[in-house]
Amino acid sequence: MQKRKKVTVLFIVIILIVGIGALGWFLACIFEGQPPSVVVEPLPEYLSGRQKFTIRVGDENRGLRKLRISVEQEGRKITILEKEFPFHGILNRQGVHTFETEVFLDPKKMNLAQGRADLYARIWDYSRRSGGDGNLSVFQHKMIVDTVPPAIRILSRQHYINLGGAGLVVYRVSSDTDQSGVYVNDYYFPGFPAGEDSEKETHLCYFAVPQNLVAYPSVYLWAKDRAGNRTTSTFNYHIRKKRFRVERMNISDHFLKKVLPYFSFYSLEEKATPLEKFLKINRDLRKENTLAFHELGKKSSTDRLWEGTWVRLKNAATMARFGDRRRYYYHGKEVDRETHMGVDLASIAQSKVPAANDGRVVFADRMGIYGNTVVLDHGQGLMSSYSHLSKIDVAVGDTVKKGAIIGETGRTGLAGGDHLHFAVMVSGIFVNPIEWWDSHWIHDNITKKLALLKK
Ligand SMILES: [Zn+2]
Repeated sequence: MQKRKKVTVLFIVIILIVGIGALGWFLACIFEGQPPSVVVEPLPEYLSGRQKFTIRVGDENRGLRKLRISVEQEGRKITILEKEFPFHGILNRQGVHTFETEVFLDPKKMNLAQGRADLYARIWDYSRRSGGDGNLSVFQHKMIVDTVPPAIRILSRQHYINLGGAGLVVYRVSSDTDQSGVYVNDYYFPGFPAGEDSEKETHLCYFAVPQNLVAYPSVYLWAKDRAGNRTTSTFNYHIRKKRFRVERMNISDHFLKKVLPYFSFYSLEEKATPLEKFLKINRDLRKENTLAFHELGKKSSTDRLWEGTWVRLKNAATMARFGDRRRYYYHGKEVDRETHMGVDLASIAQSKVPAANDGRVVFADRMGIYGNTVVLDHGQGLMSSYSHLSKIDVAVGDTVKKGAIIGETGRTGLAGGDHLHFAVMVSGIFVNPIEWWDSHWIHDNITKKLALLKK
């Protein structure tokens, strides 16, 4: 009997322990202290127009009870979304544990003022904590409402540009502008801060009217502020038409034999004829090189490095001009058409090549059809290049003075004889070098406009 009583007591104790344990577990469950999770994407610094936000909330334990999304600005509270989630099953096991939604904020429709506004996401769970309100997670994201586009004021009055030539516009932008420049059709030319004002509001922009444009282009200034607001502004300009020469280039078997060995670095089909190899080089490698020059154009210094008229190779005859429409003939038949993007200057073989102006070396290496090439950056988008060199005397990063010797002329690349192919670029677009050798052109089109920066 005594033994049975003991067993009964032990049994009750076990039941009590298990019961207390179960009750403890149950209470821990319903009073759990884990707040729900919130993820909001994206998190923009500025709100300039209609913006989509994705909001993901979750609660593993007791599940989601309520979600409230709002925007608050200077004490004003705008509720964007309010959602209650149902309770299902004994411990809300079948309740909602994850939820994702999209909301759109439109600062104009919501009548938000310019300046700070905060996005809030508040989410409660079904825990019995906080007097039954549940655990609360508050997500807050600070933004600046800015729906006002930047302002542009043009300072330079008249702009005469030659087809294939360069232009300069001087203008002022409002202080929150972070990017501005000129569009010529789809060609973009970045502007650079240039004034003496501490706010960096005064800018200049060198732009080109590419030689291949057939219709009168649309030219305008463009600006974007930190919030992403954009604006455009037109200015007075006139583009002078220019007729480019048509040049006949006879490709002889002798010429092919002379130039093709240089291109052993370029993958050409072995079975191809010398003419086919030449055409691949003249078309495809030329295009690759044009792109490489364009990429270099983006590496220009924000400071002006050059001064005065540009230097031309001394005692040299002009063998080919900028924009020449070249027709290539082989055995009397036209086989290709390309445009010459620089000026060919010939003097005695291996003439010393002077830097056209002060600058910094951004390229000094082999460049496809152009052979050994040096590219100098003169700042604010302006660059000059020197090709077919037999010798390079400078290295990337070197600073050079106007007239300093950077190498010697030669016939590397696609060149029939010793000469210098000299080119000028505006943000990677080739322009007619003749303008930069002309002190009158520089005075009328550049210096007079730059004087406006000091006013
Ligand atoms: Zn050339």
